[in-house]
Amino acid sequence: MSIASLASTTIRRLEGKVAVITGGASGLGECTARTFVKHGAKVLIADIKDELGKFVSKDIGPEFSSFVHCDVSKEKDVENAVNAAISHFGKLDIMFNNAGIIEHPKPDILDNETSDFERVLSVNLVGAFLGTKHAARVMKPARRGSIITTASICSVVGGIASHAYTSSKHGVVGLMRNAAVELGQYGIRVNCVSPYGVATPLAKDFFKLDDVHGIYANLKGAILEPEDVAGAALYLGSDESKYVSGLNLILDGGFTITNSGFS
Ligand code: NAD
Repeated sequence: MSIASLASTTIRRLEGKVAVITGGASGLGECTARTFVKHGAKVLIADIKDELGKFVSKDIGPEFSSFVHCDVSKEKDVENAVNAAISHFGKLDIMFNNAGIIEHPKPDILDNETSDFERVLSVNLVGAFLGTKHAARVMKPARRGSIITTASICSVVGGIASHAYTSSKHGVVGLMRNAAVELGQYGIRVNCVSPYGVATPLAKDFFKLDDVHGIYANLKGAILEPEDVAGAALYLGSDESKYVSGLNLILDGGFTITNSGFS
């Protein structure tokens, strides 16, 4: 094969793999689903947005993708989503715990309702726990797998988002580290991706809020595109990262390595 024809050949980095992507109906999850399929994977999209999820799955192609209703805060739903991947596609190689919510921060902690705090934790942190648990249930006997959770730069710095969101994203990194230590013996790798702001529906909502509070006003650097995060998930899901586990892969152009990020 000539170098020219080699260059035009797409390298399918997830050939034959099967993934569950929570929050796959929109934003980072949708982009990652499309990227994974382009690279040879089959994807089970798990989301609460049924119409959108079914549309995305159909658009990707029923031979490559399927949709299941799943509220990640409910154990039965997550168990079903993992089981659906097995029944549709025969196995599970990659679990992408990506579903997440953000709420408008109230700068004074005294104004923060416990019920709102619990709601964010139940999706962002409990959801990641349930995804990790049920992925491990089927990955342990298979003795292989990659579990990836979308955290955020709010997993390593405070003061950007709400108390609940920041707590939930710090929490998923702790969960990831514990799970990486435990599950490594079964050939299961566990990692996080932590993006800076990404141009998705969730962030657009957040920017409206920023107009009010000016939270992002002093941030440096560009907003990421969903493809930037999908590329990181692709790496962590593929065998190229076979020695990578316990990593919080921060995608922020270096923002969080300096305390002067806000100056
Ligand atoms: P998005 O709103 O476009 O997509 C999130 C998806 O999660 C939606 O399809 C939504 O229906 C789904 N979802 C919400 N609650 C759910 C639940 N209980 N069960 C199942 N699905 C649920 O947002 P996005 O920006 O693509 O966010 C994806 C992830 O990225 C989130 O975990 C978010 O915290 C994280 N993140 C986003 C940014 C950003 O700037 N967009 C930055 C850092 C981290």
